[in-house]
Amino acid sequence: NSGSASDIPGVKERTLVAIKPDGVQRRLIGQIIKRFEQRGFRLVGLKMVQVSEELLSQHYVALRKKPFYPSVLQYMTSGPVVAMVWEGHNVIKSTRMLVGDTNPAEAAPGTLRGDFSIHVSRNVVHASDSPEVAQKEISLWFHRSELIDWVCCDFGNIYHP
Ligand code: UDP
Repeated sequence: NSGSASDIPGVKERTLVAIKPDGVQRRLIGQIIKRFEQRGFRLVGLKMVQVSEELLSQHYVALRKKPFYPSVLQYMTSGPVVAMVWEGHNVIKSTRMLVGDTNPAEAAPGTLRGDFSIHVSRNVVHASDSPEVAQKEISLWFHRSELIDWVCCDFGNIYHP
């Protein structure tokens, strides 16, 4: 199998993306997924979830001491979230760039937050910000059996072996 596109280093990198309750309520699921699909990333996990406070307390462990933490908990449990795992070369960094700055006022036009949000407390989408965090978040949100390693038929047109 040497020389195939799937041998490219980093092509199996994965990140967790979550469409937050505001994104679901505002019917932005399709538009958000579209941006990852058209880029060429591979979707390996997808589900709609009503998130528990228990999961969130692990997900946002770094924010526990922040004054806005209770309102983040309330917001993130206010309705369903669409959780996804996307895979591809540099997907963690590329996704953070596609999502845009945490504060929508700083998010560039063309980014998801820059196009779809105004206020930091309703910024539509979450994405892992480092390889360590991505690994932790994927195993927190998804069981291994929920991640599908399917064959992408256009791989050779997205990567150069
Ligand atoms: N957040 C907020 N107020 C703030 C800062 C953050 O409500 O002043 C929320 C916001 O929804 C953000 C989330 O907390 O996306 C997590 O913050 P983090 O700094 O981890 O940013 P992210 O990784 O989501 O860009």
